[in-house]
Amino acid sequence: MRPLIAGNWKMNGLGAEGVALARAVREGLGDGNGVDVLLCPPFTLIERVARAVAGSAIAVGGQDCHPKASGAHTGDVSAPMLKDAGASFVILGHSERRADHGETDALVRAKAEAAVAAGLTPIVCVGETLAERDAGRAEAVVEAQLAGSLPEGFARAGGVVAYEPVWAIGTGRTPSEADIAAMHAAIRARLVARFGAAGRGVRILYGGSVKAANAKPILAVPEVGGALVGGASLQAAEFLAIIAAAPVAVA
Ligand code: PEP
Repeated sequence: MRPLIAGNWKMNGLGAEGVALARAVREGLGDGNGVDVLLCPPFTLIERVARAVAGSAIAVGGQDCHPKASGAHTGDVSAPMLKDAGASFVILGHSERRADHGETDALVRAKAEAAVAAGLTPIVCVGETLAERDAGRAEAVVEAQLAGSLPEGFARAGGVVAYEPVWAIGTGRTPSEADIAAMHAAIRARLVARFGAAGRGVRILYGGSVKAANAKPILAVPEVGGALVGGASLQAAEFLAIIAAAPVAVA
């Protein structure tokens, strides 16, 4: 399985700096070396970033989409609109959206269905809070999120899961490699139980304070199929170093 290193720019980037960042990643990446690379800029930059990386090995994704294809939903953006702008992936159910916009598992599932229908690859985020981990409920919480957020056909459509412990996002804290391994094994078991053989092919990314300095051991953990990178994806050199740390083929 090829690893996927995805950059989530969140609500960062105006035109010139976003295009310059995409160009710098493109120039530094070369042929990609067996790693799939994805940039997820804000909606306003998707088309410009897609143009900046056209013809390279870099894919472009959105950070959210509406479950409907069109209609009276002021301020929202649909999956076909993302596709039309040049995206091929979309991040869904990020903990910041679950917290800031009250997104439920059922809504995330509907969005993932819309993404697949539009020909986008959904990256569905799951992860526990610190209170849930401290209460010994981390795996139960993540398993419930998987059950509620992943639609039928998710694995066959090439869907990706990102395990992002909420307490590790943007904090500089990361779980131990043993804890990452245990959670990724639990996620794999749920995927196989639900989707059968297709569940073995789902890439499971780790996300939460990944940077150049810690990427290599994290990306070497069994069942870690790549990384979803926030803050460190805003600096080309840092993001390229994370890409370079990815094993060419992962379990
Ligand atoms: C994220 O927001 O998906 C993320 C992993 O952020 P950071 O790398 O900054 O912790």
